[in-house]
Formats: sequence, structure tokens, C-alpha cells
Amino acid sequence: MRTVAIIPAAGSGNRMNRDVSKQYLTLAGKPILVCTLEVFEACPLVDALLVVVPSQDMESVRTDILDPWDLKKVAGIVPGGKERQDSVRAGIEALDGDTELVIIHDAVRPFITAGLIENCIRAAEAEGAATAGVPVKDTVKEVGPDGRILRTCDRSLLWLTQTPQVFRRDIIESAHRAAVRDGFRGTDDTSLVERLGIAVRMIRGDYGNIKITTPEDLVIAEALLAASR
Ligand code: C5P
Repeated sequence: MRTVAIIPAAGSGNRMNRDVSKQYLTLAGKPILVCTLEVFEACPLVDALLVVVPSQDMESVRTDILDPWDLKKVAGIVPGGKERQDSVRAGIEALDGDTELVIIHDAVRPFITAGLIENCIRAAEAEGAATAGVPVKDTVKEVGPDGRILRTCDRSLLWLTQTPQVFRRDIIESAHRAAVRDGFRGTDDTSLVERLGIAVRMIRGDYGNIKITTPEDLVIAEALLAASR
């Protein structure tokens, strides 16, 4: 199946407390965005990449970040939107007519592996929708607005969701259409699909597939990188 990865990289990085957006920060001298794209470049099941960036950065991302690295699969740079969901939708609207399978993967998860991408692709090919995730290790509580615990969740059923999330094109297109129609806002793309009653397969991901969001995450990322060498 012709498979295109949409890489949302249009966040402002406010939680990083830096002038530069987190996806442009470097890990071992390489922009985090490039580290992420290189894994998809090397994955034979991925045909093309669409990178979604802030509209004001489209030119600088091309010249300063993408051009210096040998990224042959980048088929387009797309202007993002206000929230992540808007940026992903912009990526979906930019897909070419031949695309059959859509991968969505956060630019700020550079420790993704080709193996995990392939496992998610195989599951979505077979079942229509799949996401990577990991079982929670801590005990999760639901807490009320007064700061008191309402209940303890059954940990054996709880997973933390990651990306990649992979979908048959018709499924993710109709999920985003329905979300616009209903004014629904989700924090990931599977939640848009789940609400249509479509089953999503959970694929066991990797605890190292972290999302670099805060300055502490950058410290962990550097340690993970050092450990992998
Ligand atoms: O905001 P969050 O940390 O969940 O961002 C996850 C990914 O979504 C990041 O790669 C970020 O650049 C991207 N994003 C986006 N457009 C936005 C907000 C976030 O592409 N408006």
C-alpha cells in the first residue's frame, strides 16, 4: 500500500522555555526533526514524508534544516495550524491521490525505530487503524477539582499512547471530517477514530519512544542517546 507519513512539527515549544521551537533543538548536533525524519527515510515501508511546520517557518525549515541533510522522501512542507489537530488535518489535506495508508508521528519523538513503525503499519494494513503505546507503570488516580482522589483506575487495562498512529486513508479522513463537523478536539488522532466506533489496535511500543516536551525531556533524550552509542 502506498504509505505516507505526516510529521506534525508546527508546535511553538512554549513548554521548553527556549527561544527556538523544540523540534529545531539539536540532539548531538542534529535537529530533533531531522533525527525523526531519518528513521522514516530508512524504513522501506514508508514511501513519502509530509512535514507540517509553522507557516512563518516554511522557507527557513527548508533551507536551514531539511536541505543540509539528505532527506529524499520529503515530498512536501505544509503550513500547520493553531493546535496539533489542525496541523495534522492540514497534512491530511495535502496527501496525494494515490496515498492509501497514513502514518502520523510527532516530530518530537526522535527515538522511534523502523521496527515499531513497521509493526504499526502491518497492524493498520490488516485492521484499518493502529497506534503504538506502552502499559502504564505507575498507579493512576482520577482526582477531582478539590484535589481529592475520586478513584483508582485498574492499571492492568491502562496504556500510555504514543505515535506512530497509522490509519487507512479513508478512516483518518472521515475521522477528521467528523471532528470538524462536531467541534470535537482530541489530544491524539486515534481518539477521533474511536469516537466513530472504529476499533484501533494497540501495538506495544517502546518506553524509550519519548516525546520531548519540557527541558527535563531534553536531558533524558541526551542520556538515551548516549546510552544507545
Ligand atoms: O503539543 P505537543 O507537545 O503534543 O506536540 C506534539 C507534536 O505536534 C509536536 O511535534 C509539535 O510540533 C506538533 N504540533 C503541531 N502543530 C501545533 C502544535 C503541535 O504540529 N499547532
